[in-house]
Amino acid sequence: MIIGAGLSGLTAARALTSRGVSVVVLDKGRRPGGRMATRRLGDATFDHGAQFFTVRSSEFAALLAEWPVREWCRGFSGDDGHPRFISPGGMNSITTQMARGLDVRCEVQVAKLAAVMDGFDAAILTAPVPQSLAMLDERVPELEAIEYDRCLALMVRGAEQGLSEPGAIQTLGEPISWIADNHTKGVSSEPHAITIHAGPEFSLRHWETPEDEVVAQLCTGSYREVKLHRWKFAKPRVLYPERCYRRGNIVFAGDAFGEARVEGAVLSGLAAAEALA
Ligand SMILES: Cc1cc2nc3c(=O)[nH]c(=O)nc-3n(C[C@H](O)[C@H](O)[C@H](O)COP(=O)(O)OP(=O)(O)OC[C@H]3O[C@@H](n4cnc5c(N)ncnc54)[C@H](O)[C@@H]3O)c2cc1C
Repeated sequence: MIIGAGLSGLTAARALTSRGVSVVVLDKGRRPGGRMATRRLGDATFDHGAQFFTVRSSEFAALLAEWPVREWCRGFSGDDGHPRFISPGGMNSITTQMARGLDVRCEVQVAKLAAVMDGFDAAILTAPVPQSLAMLDERVPELEAIEYDRCLALMVRGAEQGLSEPGAIQTLGEPISWIADNHTKGVSSEPHAITIHAGPEFSLRHWETPEDEVVAQLCTGSYREVKLHRWKFAKPRVLYPERCYRRGNIVFAGDAFGEARVEGAVLSGLAAAEALA
């Protein structure tokens, strides 16, 4: 049993399946992917969760050969030599492909792990850690220090201006940490499809602020349509140092274990599968 059909859950599911283990993946979302999220507004396509990824380990590089990805650029303010990868179909097309052939059951929100464990020997929990801990009856103090930053993400269709190549501005600041033009990036056929990510401080301060006020603060200029997505568990700020954490027949995994990024989620999924296999 695996809870969470994001990158780490799907990676673990594929690794276990390839060893002949029978696996069911449950996810509360309407489709697999988690934070590998792509959304359409009219003819515009937006990556509104993960924006790109880098590859540092040979383990991850080996898996990449099967993924529908291409190099996007080597930096956002000049060439720093490090390739950034994206999927031309949007980041969610990676997880959609990974889910093929697996027994993934979406729109299943697990409130208590015990309630879904019948018939299963073990579980891998890949939801953001506070959500995984809430599924258990007992406490796991070793994981209680893990914390996440929030992110308010705007999808702006028909923005007044697009961005020139490579199509992104990475400020890592406040109130805006990231702006990307999904058309220049090669993801949206419709031009001027802009993703804006607020920084963690702004996102926390304006978590309860009504959508129109958030839009007014982050988006200047005219646009055709805008949508706000609130990522409560966007990026782990306090991590667990190992790739996964095992307690009896339960393994915790995800991007809070080791590295808070796409590659970290994948390597954690592999480690979780290894821990159970
Ligand atoms: C705004 C934003 C920008 C980002 N940008 C980048 C980037 O540019 N580069 C990069 O490398 N990384 C980036 N990341 C981080 C990257 O997206 C994550 O590291 C990675 O996708 C995490 O995968 P995961 O499988 O660990 O978790 P998730 O993708 O969160 O998967 C967990 C799954 O668990 C499911 N779930 C939760 N609770 C339950 C429940 N009770 N019952 C059933 N299912 C449940 C969720 O629906 C979800 O699908 C970004 C993230 C965000 C939010």
